[in-house]
Amino acid sequence: MKEKIYTIPLTEAFEKDCECAFCEIERKLDKEILDYVLGPSYMEEDIREETNKHGFCKYHYDKMFHAQNRLGVALMVSTHLKKIKNDIESVLADEQAVGKRKLFQKSAQTSPIAKYTEVLSEDCYACGRAKKRMDGYIDTFFYLWKREPDFRSKVKESKGFCLNHFSRLISEGREKLNDSSFNDLLSTLIPIERENLARISDELDWFIQKFDYRFQNEPWKNSKDSLERAILKISSARLE
Ligand SMILES: [Zn+2]
Ligand SMILES: [Zn+2]
Repeated sequence: MKEKIYTIPLTEAFEKDCECAFCEIERKLDKEILDYVLGPSYMEEDIREETNKHGFCKYHYDKMFHAQNRLGVALMVSTHLKKIKNDIESVLADEQAVGKRKLFQKSAQTSPIAKYTEVLSEDCYACGRAKKRMDGYIDTFFYLWKREPDFRSKVKESKGFCLNHFSRLISEGREKLNDSSFNDLLSTLIPIERENLARISDELDWFIQKFDYRFQNEPWKNSKDSLERAILKISSARLE
């Protein structure tokens, strides 16, 4: 059962002192996927076929370029580029066929090349892989929430979630849980989130106060990395 594969990493993420267990999982996943893409996998034909088909997003090209395997990246980009060179011909032909006047008719409001590049820049083999795994972790969260009192206790003891994962849990919980389980989720998560937004806000205020010379000899308390943690809390951005 797929939940079994995800249970241990998910439980471990909830045991970690962090602002969001799911962001913690994403941080690990991102590294694993990058290692995988740049490891021996890119020589396997089925993986090459996939990376060739999807390419990568800006974020992952940047990460890949700055990792250690320039040859691997060059090979993947080279085959993907050849595919683009081929595909773009029919797009350009459409562009010329639509012509300037017709583009402003309702049936063809978007230029064919704009449509093509929009899909191209958003499609990403690494993001696709990460999304599948994250979906598995979210499903496992609800699986454990329904069955494991120990897991519920870990959630209760956590520091809540970033706003994106908080809202995802609530909106998916509404669909996946029965009424009583969903009410239980809301009455657990909302106070935790409220309390932890207040906590991070206080920590950040103390961080700001420390710039005032009158407070320079005061202890930092928990505020030294509060700016990074506050940004993650509101946006899921991992500043590393
Ligand atoms: Zn998060
Ligand atoms: Zn990506």
